[in-house]
Amino acid sequence: MSATQENSPRRVDCPPPPLGCAASAGEPCMSHGGTRVRHNFHQVRTKAWEAARFAAVPAAKLIADAAQNRTIVSGTRAAELLAEHGYSSEATRIRSEVKARNGLLSAKQAAALILDEAEGGDSR
Ligand SMILES: [Zn+2]
Repeated sequence: MSATQENSPRRVDCPPPPLGCAASAGEPCMSHGGTRVRHNFHQVRTKAWEAARFAAVPAAKLIADAAQNRTIVSGTRAAELLAEHGYSSEATRIRSEVKARNGLLSAKQAAALILDEAEGGDSR
């Protein structure tokens, strides 16, 4: 991993204690009262990072929010919701992915897919 803009929770601040360690963006998470570097990130920091990523990609956020509060569950419904909100290229992308997976695409997976592709990632 030599990317200068590492795509990980390190990119956002870690919330203050007791949930996080208050590390600034770019700094690793600390444990043991700030004396030891953690190998991973505080859960709240990971959540904050995910929220920031979704906030940057409105189409993905739309689906993630709807999946979260169980308004929609399937990828097919995700595509319909995208279309209703004017995200037609995203809707088309999700419809073709639903087809490619024989209908086995959840709304959550649809949100992750849109996010990944918007970030230029090829995580699969
Ligand atoms: Zn932390």
